[in-house]
Amino acid sequence: MIPRFWRNIRYRYNLIATKCETCGEIFFPPRKLCPNCRRRGKLVEKKLSGRGKIYTYTVVYNAPLGFEMQLPYIIAIVELEEGVRVTAQIVDCDPDDVHIGMEVEAVFRRISEDGEAGLIYYGYKFRPVKEGGDGHEV
Ligand SMILES: [Zn+2]
Repeated sequence: MIPRFWRNIRYRYNLIATKCETCGEIFFPPRKLCPNCRRRGKLVEKKLSGRGKIYTYTVVYNAPLGFEMQLPYIIAIVELEEGVRVTAQIVDCDPDDVHIGMEVEAVFRRISEDGEAGLIYYGYKFRPVKEGGDGHEV
């Protein structure tokens, strides 16, 4: 049996979805029941790649309490390689540079301790995938 603490850490630093092996649909956030198959569904955990493209986005100029230091910031719907869409903040990106179709990858950052603001979940954010490959950050 896995202690609850470690289980939570795992969920926090990975994008864990569930996949229904009966119909093939992927759910994120994970679900316990497949709405398509109900009792015939067989849900298994699936780790997502964390890579995707911006489907749509909005630049937020008025932040809820506790987020004033980050203004303005970008909230996007990211379509992951696996086809699921997640709402998350885009970091390391100027609001003038963000565009639909931009390639992004998940990063795990500490979120404000007061982070009950509702828009940001699970401690992940996304940043642009740097042109020219990985491992050459300046
Ligand atoms: Zn199903």
